[in-house]
Amino acid sequence: KTTLVWLQRELRLSHFPALEKAIADSERVAVVYFHDPKQLIGDANSAWLAQSLQTLKQQLRARGGELLIFSGDFADYFAQALQLIEPTQVFYSFQVGQPFSAMQNEALTICQQNKVALQPFFSEFWFDPGVVVNKQKNPYVVFTPFYKAALAQVHTLEPFNDEVTENSADWKKLAWPEFKEQGLSVIPEDLLAIQQQPWAKKILKHWSIGEQGAWQKLRYFIDDHLDDYNEDRDFPAIEATSALSPYLHFGEISSRAIYFELLALSEQQSIHYQPWVRQLLWREFARLLLWFFPYTEQEPFQQKFSTMQWQTDAELIEAWQKGLTGIPIVDAGMRQLWETGYMHNRVRMVVASLLTKDLNQSWLHGLQWFADTLVDADPANNAMGWQWVAGCGVDAAPYYRLFNPLRQSERFDAEGEYIRQWVPELKTLSKKAIHAPWLHQEECKMKGIQLGQDYPLPLVDLSQSRKRHLQRVEQLKA
Ligand code: FAD
Repeated sequence: KTTLVWLQRELRLSHFPALEKAIADSERVAVVYFHDPKQLIGDANSAWLAQSLQTLKQQLRARGGELLIFSGDFADYFAQALQLIEPTQVFYSFQVGQPFSAMQNEALTICQQNKVALQPFFSEFWFDPGVVVNKQKNPYVVFTPFYKAALAQVHTLEPFNDEVTENSADWKKLAWPEFKEQGLSVIPEDLLAIQQQPWAKKILKHWSIGEQGAWQKLRYFIDDHLDDYNEDRDFPAIEATSALSPYLHFGEISSRAIYFELLALSEQQSIHYQPWVRQLLWREFARLLLWFFPYTEQEPFQQKFSTMQWQTDAELIEAWQKGLTGIPIVDAGMRQLWETGYMHNRVRMVVASLLTKDLNQSWLHGLQWFADTLVDADPANNAMGWQWVAGCGVDAAPYYRLFNPLRQSERFDAEGEYIRQWVPELKTLSKKAIHAPWLHQEECKMKGIQLGQDYPLPLVDLSQSRKRHLQRVEQLKA
């Protein structure tokens, strides 16, 4: 019996039921990644992926196995792989969002044509879709009741069984020397080209990519930050959150395995893990939403917002992307993103609110930029995050509520440390002036900062833009 384990975004070897079952049940196992350059993913994701595949390949080789990579049109190569490998069954972990759903549908057709069994596993979820539902058996579309219902069912979850994957002898089943010679373990050139770009190199140096890096990050976070997470998580200048999002997105670590790790630890010592588990369940919520409402990847959950009159102004969008809006907290966030491929959650909300509500640009422009530049760009979390802020999603901030960037800046970056780090041209300003330099022109002059030249004046008058936004949403209601 030969099993083909098809990898999409679960680039790890442990806590991986499809792989565990394949090794346990089969004489031979082929671990295969299909790369289709037509299935567009963002550049930051591509750069990470190139590195992650390299790391996984090394991990497999160190155990005597092999990672097979087919690069080209997915349907053609999937069919070819079935011819070459001749599996009796194909196992994969179900993934939500594009490009995965398109590939999963194609794989189903091809497996049916070839009479090969195709088995999905729901290991990237905590709960199989349909398990955490309301009394009417409908999915939750408000987070808090979902969270409570999920917590009420966590006792039903089983930890992953890693018995076979921990047994080194069984990895020999994964050796495919004949395919290695045919070049079927080469990292796709288009991914490597992106990984080699100076911008990608710059962002990748902030991360230690792969399963081992993920577990190190988790342990460091648990040891140094977990206990203070709830108090500190909203302050972008403090390293208080886990920065595990890209590892979770690429499946280098499993969210469910993290939960069991926390449980095991809590039996040995007192740890305050519920607030962080809540965030992991936001991720679960987002994935389930995309499962039940796939249209929300590109369209508003609340469909009345489809008629919203957005303006499209390429110059405004570009200034926002480059961190040149003249609003320091927003520019700091956009520059952190450009430099590291990551942005703090609180600041993501502020920059998204400015783009959609003050600048009146569609959330899809923001979603697209994030999709291209975030290393953690994720179809489910990104769509939910943007729609939440724009006010058109599930459980969204009410459409009439805007984040006031100045209040947010004063509250969550009171000393201006985060702004100083990412907007160095303002670093000499006092903590009073740094949030709104245009209101402190005297101080700017004294410190040799010429507004409009060294640092932009704000793109919008925030009180005017607020009023205009409220008028627009009033019209929508009518
Ligand atoms: P932690 O605070 O350590 O949380 C642990 C994990 O929980 C995260 O890694 C993440 O997987 C999950 N999580 C935390 N907050 C959220 C949330 N609000 N929604 C869903 N899951 C969450 N997250 C992405 O992973 N990819 C995206 O593309 C993405 N786009 C976003 C766009 C906007 C406009 C907004 C407002 C938020 C977006 N988020 C996205 C959610 C959130 O900002 C990040 O998950 C978080 O900042 C990652 O940092 P962390 O790993 O340190 O999180």
